[in-house]
Amino acid sequence: MVFPNGTVALKEANLEVAPGEFISLIGPSGCGKTTLLRLLADLIQPTSGQIRIGGKSPEEARKSRAYGYVFQAPTLMEWRTVLANVMLPLEIMGFPGPERRARAEKMLALVGLEKFARHYPWQLSGGMQQRVSIARALAFDPQLLFMDEPFGALDEITRENLNLELLRLWRETGKTIVFVTHSIPEAVFLSTRIVVMTPRPGKIETVIPVDLPQPRTFETRETTRFFELATAVREALRKGHGYEVAE
Ligand code: ADP
Repeated sequence: MVFPNGTVALKEANLEVAPGEFISLIGPSGCGKTTLLRLLADLIQPTSGQIRIGGKSPEEARKSRAYGYVFQAPTLMEWRTVLANVMLPLEIMGFPGPERRARAEKMLALVGLEKFARHYPWQLSGGMQQRVSIARALAFDPQLLFMDEPFGALDEITRENLNLELLRLWRETGKTIVFVTHSIPEAVFLSTRIVVMTPRPGKIETVIPVDLPQPRTFETRETTRFFELATAVREALRKGHGYEVAE
């Protein structure tokens, strides 16, 4: 991927993701993680190479609402209630009122926020706001979820709780998730495979399968295997001259 200013953001990025996987993209800042996600989501177009999403082009996948996208910040509308925020994409696509409400309520229940439907975003903590944005991304019930460092701005304890919540949601729904992070423990805890990327021009350095048993719990982080995998990721990052990686 070459940007108009000549920046080569991605090179040799070959990856195949199977349905139901939880894939993390990890690498130092500026290595092209967000660029890769934006390419998948048809927010930008590749200058070379090819992307298929369930056999479709990213544009076709976007138009058929095959995926949801969760941004780094929750980007909720302050003047709308939680429920109205989750209903917004359905409203834009012209879904009938009762269906909008039913779907939004179901998604809020999935992220454990059904009791907060009538609250406004400013009444919620940062972690809860990010859960609302996950519910909104799920409004069309897509099979695929792209998440760009959704928990990066949260404190460690909230982040660990949301990691558990997200895994529960992933297990219950069978979604395929592509998740960007620069935290090694987060990647190891969440993923079925970790894609380690190198600094610019971003390349896929190594893909590390994570064989930690499911369902994962708080104790998972204290197992020997967890530390072994974290070490493997750290070494792969170092091999690709990675640096500035959050612990
Ligand atoms: P990451 O998500 O891994 O931190 P990004 O994908 O955001 O990295 O960026 C990869 C590289 O591409 C960075 O060097 C960034 O400055 C550059 N880049 C991103 N978007 C643009 C753009 N629209 N125009 C020019 N360069 C860009």
